[in-house]
Parts: sequence; C-alpha cells; structure tokens
Amino acid sequence: MVAERFSRQSILPELGPEGQRRLGVARVLVVGCGALGSHTAAALLRAGVHRLILLDRDILELHNLHRVALFTEADVGRPKAEALADRLCQIDGEVEISAYVAHFGPSQAEDLVPAVDLVVDGLDNMETRYLLNDACLKHGVPWIYTAVLGTTGLMMPIVPGNGPCLRCLFPSPPPPGTLPTCATHGILGPVPKALGALQASLAIRLLTAGEVPIGKLFQFDLWRVEFRELVVPRRDDCPSCVRGEYAFLREGSRTVTLCGDAIHILPRTSESVDLEELARRLAGLGKVRRGSGVLFFDVDGVSFTVFPDGRAIIKGVKDPTRAQALYDQFISR
Ligand SMILES: [Zn+2]
Repeated sequence: MVAERFSRQSILPELGPEGQRRLGVARVLVVGCGALGSHTAAALLRAGVHRLILLDRDILELHNLHRVALFTEADVGRPKAEALADRLCQIDGEVEISAYVAHFGPSQAEDLVPAVDLVVDGLDNMETRYLLNDACLKHGVPWIYTAVLGTTGLMMPIVPGNGPCLRCLFPSPPPPGTLPTCATHGILGPVPKALGALQASLAIRLLTAGEVPIGKLFQFDLWRVEFRELVVPRRDDCPSCVRGEYAFLREGSRTVTLCGDAIHILPRTSESVDLEELARRLAGLGKVRRGSGVLFFDVDGVSFTVFPDGRAIIKGVKDPTRAQALYDQFISR
C-alpha cells in the first residue's frame, strides 16, 4: 500500500525507490505551525516524510484563515500545533507525530534539534530564527530559512559546515518591533502556500539527494511574478558558523515581539498554572473566558491569552517592558 501511495513520485529519476525510502525514515522538525509551517508540513507528509515534530506556541485566530488551507473555522481558538497534528493524521494514518504547544527557547532547541535530520522554518519573527540558526549549527543539522511578507517570500538553505548561515546574511537581529510584519504590512493569501511548497521541495532534495544550492538567497514576488537569486558569501568572522559562539542559545529575554502586534511573555519558573484558579482570581478584574486549553483575559483594552505552562500572549501593548509589567501584575504571583 505504501509503495502504491507514492508510486507517482518514486518513479521520478530524482528520487527513485531509494529516495522514497529515505523520506520514510527521515525525521523533520517544523518550528512554527501557522500558514508557512502547516503548508510545509503537509507537503512533506504527503511526499512520504512520516516522522514529524511540530512546535508552535500560539492558538489559531480567525485572521489566520485567509492564508491556510488545512485549518477551518472549527479550529479557531485551538493550539495550532495540535490542530495541525490532528489534520495530518487524517491525511496519512502512518504518520508519527509529536506536537508541542510551547515557545521555541534555548532548552527546546537543545532538546529537539539534535533529534532530527532537518528543520523547516514556519516562524513569524527573526529573533527566534537566530536561536534556530545557532542550534542547527551547533548540532550539525541543516535548516531552510524561509520567510513571507506582503506578496513576497525569501528562502535560503543553510547546511552546517558548508556555506553561509543566517548571520552571514543578516549579521545582527534588528531591534524588536522594527521589522515590517504580516500585521503591519499584510500578507497575500497564497504566498505562504507557495513558499511552503518551495521549502518542502528543497527539504525533499536535501533528505534524498543530500545536497541543495548553497550560498544563495532566493527571492520570490508572486504578485509581480518575479524571481531573483542573490549570492550570499560566508563571512570570515561570522560569530555563529565560523567562531561557533552560539550566543542565542544562552537564555535570553523573556519577551518576544510577534508578528501580529502581540508580545509573548515567558514565565519565570517552569511550574504549570492552574487556569481554573487563575480564572477565579481574575474574574472581578476584567472579562475572563476559557478556550481550548487556554484562558483569555481582557482588561483596559489589553488582552491576554494564558497557556497552562505559564506563557502568555499579550495584545494591545506595544512596549515589551509594559507587557512584562502587566504580566507580572495579573498573571504571575
Ligand atoms: Zn555564518
């Protein structure tokens, strides 16, 4: 049955039965399960990649639906990683999936990256990509930098020990909140699906042939139907891929500014939060609502989404320090 399922792909001279077999045993980590990550994951699964690890810290919102093919209105309010895992199991019952509703921080990077053959990029912020870059270089795992914005997408495969890395391309992360995001500049619905397909194609090539174009940044504009290829040299003094300092793997800030005018706050401790008890405590202070495994809390034009592991996503505040203060005031004790 498995052979029949992939028969139209395994006859490709680029893959053959051996390439198809390699896809079946490959292990891939999908960091970020929004539009870009979910389309990449689905394309990989349908191609025969059966071992997937999914990670996303966020829940699905109505304004995500215009650019994702796998999610429906019934998934709004659910954690994206869990909704994606359920949908992928419906596509192919042979799949082995681990889904994590969690922030991708240094400890998750150190745990998950060494366990896989490849990481694909479904992220919505640059800060986390620098951490992913360091983790992949340290553990010798290739990853594919892929980003979408407006009508355009960028892609650059990064193979440790062979060619440039993300910090050769962009040496330092921009200050939080200074880059345009999907919330401020918009996103054309089909763009993440196209870039997900491109990312999945390069992932399949890397997993089967063991090689991809190195040292090139690919830029696509779907509206203007334009494609450009830029040569990216390796920097002689790159702190990540040459000097091996991996500074982003050290515990960093507790706040990350997300695409979508939201700020993500990490808890100070790893103790889980009793959401029922928190709901009772917050009830007199603002509007409290329970979602699928999360708690929503609105007060003075600021909205909190609180997860059982103590993380919170805060909207209605632009300054990360202010968001941190509000978290400490209402959520942490
Ligand atoms: Zn580098």
